[in-house]
Order: sequence, then C-alpha cells, then structure tokens
Amino acid sequence: MIDRFEIRQRSEAREEALSSYAAKSGFSLGRERTETPDPIRTAFQRDRDRIIHTHAFRRLKHKTQVFIAPAGDHYVTRLTHTLEVSQIARTITRALNLNEDLTEAISLGHDLGHTPFGHIGEDMLDELYCGGFRHYEQSLRVVEKLEKDGTGLNLTKEVRDGIFGHSKGERPLFSPERILSESTYEAEVVRISDAIAYINHDIGDAVRAGVLAAADIPTSLTDVLGHTHSERVNTMVCDIVENSWAVTGKTEAGNPPVIRMSGRVGQATDALRNFMFEHVYNVQSQNRDAQNARRVVRALYGYLVRHEELLPPEYLGYSDETERRVVDFIAGMTDQYAMNLARDMGL
Ligand code: MG
Repeated sequence: MIDRFEIRQRSEAREEALSSYAAKSGFSLGRERTETPDPIRTAFQRDRDRIIHTHAFRRLKHKTQVFIAPAGDHYVTRLTHTLEVSQIARTITRALNLNEDLTEAISLGHDLGHTPFGHIGEDMLDELYCGGFRHYEQSLRVVEKLEKDGTGLNLTKEVRDGIFGHSKGERPLFSPERILSESTYEAEVVRISDAIAYINHDIGDAVRAGVLAAADIPTSLTDVLGHTHSERVNTMVCDIVENSWAVTGKTEAGNPPVIRMSGRVGQATDALRNFMFEHVYNVQSQNRDAQNARRVVRALYGYLVRHEELLPPEYLGYSDETERRVVDFIAGMTDQYAMNLARDMGL
C-alpha cells in the first residue's frame, strides 16, 4: 500500500537527479501566502494546474494571435500558441535536464494577460491608459490579482518571475548573456521557445491567409533553418540543446552557462523574425481588420470609463481607479466578445 503522503516527497527526491542549474520545487522561493504543501503534487505542478483551471486560460481559445478572428479552422489562436510554446519548451527542458514542471507552468501562464486582437489591442490599451499597458505585466496581474475573485492564484515566485520575464521586448532574442540574473533557466527556455513557436506558426498562418508564399522566404534562411515547418522547429530546438549543453553540467565558479543558439542558426532565426515583421506583422497591423480592432478598443475604453456601472461587479474590486478597472475588463475580453459588446452598445 502506497502512502499517498509520500508521493510529493518522492517527486521532490527525483528532482535531485536534475541538473545543478535546475530550479528544484522542494527549494522553491515560495508563495506570498504560506500554504500547506500538496500531498501528491510538487509546488510547480500545483501552479501548472492552477493556471489551467483559470478563466483567463479558457479565454485564450478565442483570442487572436496575428490574424484577427479568422474564418478558417486551422489558424493559430492564443491557446494553440500557448500549447506549442509549452511543448517546445518542455522538449528543450527535458533534454537539458532542467525542471519540466516549472517550464510547463510558466509556458501555460505566459500569455494569460493578452488582450483581444493580439498586439494591436495591447498597443491601443498602452496608448489609452495613462499607466501604460504590457501584456506580460497583465499576465502577472491575472495570476496575482484577477483570478479567484481578486485573490489571485498565489503561485510560486519562480513561476511568477517566469511569466513576467517571458517577453522579448526590445532585447535581442538570442542574447549571449543571461538577461535577468534572478530568473531561472526554465524561464529562459520559455522565453526562447515563445519566439520559436510564433516565428514558425505565423509563417503557416501567413501562407494560409495568402499574405505570404512559402517561396518568398529567402533561400539563404531556409537553407540554414529548413524548408518546412517541422524542419525549422527541429533545427532551432536541436541547435539550442547542443549549444546550451553546459547547463547540464555541475555548478562551477565563474560565468554561468547560458541558453543559446549557435551564431549561424541564431542569426538566421533573427533574420527570419525580421523578415516576418517586414512582410507579415507590419502589414497586418495596417489592414482593415486591424483598423477596426483599434476602433473597437478605443470606443469600448472611452465608453466604459464614462459608464463604469456596465462593468461586471467583480471588476469594481480589482482597483480603486476607474481606468485601471476598465483596462482589466477589456484586456480579459476575447475578440468576439469585444466586437459584440461594441456593437450592442452602438459604438
Ligand atoms: Mg507567447
């Protein structure tokens, strides 16, 4: 007969065989509010499960990645993007003998704060709200505050730091230096996997939408990275594992190892990302759907700030400031919800 109260301890003991650079759940920096440990799951496994059961996670299904409310069934949504990031990151994590549970939790939570209409919605809220808006800050706000009726999920510090630090922003994608010295290696794996996922699945969506032909991608890049989606993902993942192998070794004095690509594959990946900005993202952000999305977000924001009584009652408790409450409400909307609400309000 198994004593179920030992299951978590056994899982924690198995983590001792992970790399010395892995984050171990038994030595987690902990939660804001102390809790009794789960009898079966480690702290990071528990965080992963909490994220999956949120309302915000369910809504990712109906949020735009790049193409706004597309008609076809095979376009990537924020949810399928999240699952792809999780799978790529777990593959790299397992290969490097890091903590797969932590990677999974960060991956599944990283985009919870994304607005409707992808980065167009994000940019609009940033422009409208005096406090500014970044989706990674909102992801953290979702898990720390908005879920569970304003009490948040009380996640471990490692998962919260990973969610907050996932965005590339203006930083170089495959920096030779560790960027956030306080972040875990698992968080860095997620950060890079996010980019690998979107660069590759957005090519597929752009071809699907007729914005790009596969042959438009310069052969100088496809010769290095591969000619199909699976070849390219495989090249990038294998290159990272090979070039980050030092992470699997023993902790030594001096410069810590980094998660990185080789110069050749890293440069081709950066160039492919730039190519996507030039030929897909910048183009999409100017089309009619994008203009309509901007109009909807702007109209909703203006109207709801003046008619706060229309907010669902729970949002009133999330902040003392009207504008902040409206931002929380709009950021949580799916594309369709935002469009329908704007239409129903005659905006
Ligand atoms: Mg993402």
